[in-house]
Amino acid sequence: MKMVKNSIKNLTAYKACDLPFTVKLDANEGKNILLEDTIKEGLKFDESFNLNYYPDDEASLLKNEISKYVNIPSENIIVGNGSSEMIELVIKTFVDKDEIILSPTPSFSMYSIFAEIYSTKFIGVPCNKDFSIDIDKLINRANEINPKIIILCNPNNPTGYLMTKKDITKLIENTSAIIVVDEAYIEFAQGSMINEVFNYDRLIVLRTLSKALGLAGIRLGYMGANTDIIEIINRVKSPYNLNSVSQYIGVQAFKNKSKIFDYVEEVKSQRDFLYSKLKEMEIKVYSSSGNFVFFNSNIENLYGKLADKGILIRKFKEDLEGYYRVSVGNENENRIFIENLKEIIKYEKI
Ligand SMILES: *Cc1c(COP(=O)(O)O)cnc(C)c1O
Repeated sequence: MKMVKNSIKNLTAYKACDLPFTVKLDANEGKNILLEDTIKEGLKFDESFNLNYYPDDEASLLKNEISKYVNIPSENIIVGNGSSEMIELVIKTFVDKDEIILSPTPSFSMYSIFAEIYSTKFIGVPCNKDFSIDIDKLINRANEINPKIIILCNPNNPTGYLMTKKDITKLIENTSAIIVVDEAYIEFAQGSMINEVFNYDRLIVLRTLSKALGLAGIRLGYMGANTDIIEIINRVKSPYNLNSVSQYIGVQAFKNKSKIFDYVEEVKSQRDFLYSKLKEMEIKVYSSSGNFVFFNSNIENLYGKLADKGILIRKFKEDLEGYYRVSVGNENENRIFIENLKEIIKYEKI
């Protein structure tokens, strides 16, 4: 196809894994804790719910709930189709053709994909050998090449590394870029920057309902920023970007938000379990602040061997060949993963 624009000529479509499975630990999806009962009883829509009308463009009821959840006013929030839409909106709004987006690598693949689509330049700053991030190196690189935005994934996907608030603050104060902090996994860690949007006018924080709130299926993400940024991004956002059903379900979900804390604690304790079991098996495993664990193994085609047993994890290519990310599942799922991994290792040794 000759007519395709240059920037996407080399792009390939995102392909979600569609292998059959019994244990799915490849996409960091949480458990459906918030709407379990609601769905069992049958989702009920009240008479104010009108699918013939366009959705509330302001998503007022939903923003109101999010506002209570993260403790910033509604006017500092934009909602949309997953934090993926938020990442795209920020790039669309602020980065011109050939301007630079800087980000530590390895990290979430969507940053460089959106960068490419919009003909911007994505530059990665490699993290340390142990996957920690050297903040001074990042600051120096930023001051050399003057990026328009710097995107941090915190905690980082796929490594699980958590930057401190102190480091992020240092980055903001010593650079002039817009700093985007993708906090998809922050509930499993500490040190959210979302309440700092009043202190820093170049700070944007992205959050999602896909992970700790276990609602990846409704595609709901949001951003927090000061009202100047919100006003500008609203000019670029498609009208009615978040459908009425997701808005409605989002509001219902937040009614049960007391359950989030218990769930997060359970994930953290299961994360410790996975970490210590992998360590016992003499696998190189990295301490994680997300709902997943990152590890390295020289077993050939470990991904395929687990998939054959119906267990899906995430594998990586190129520089991260031999590295894997396993989502923290429930106790039973994690036990099945560990037992099968043990068996594979035993077989390798024969
Ligand atoms: C899962 C994930 C998201 C969430 O994306 P949604 O579009 O909200 O489902 C965002 N950023 C990172 C780094 C993620 O891992």
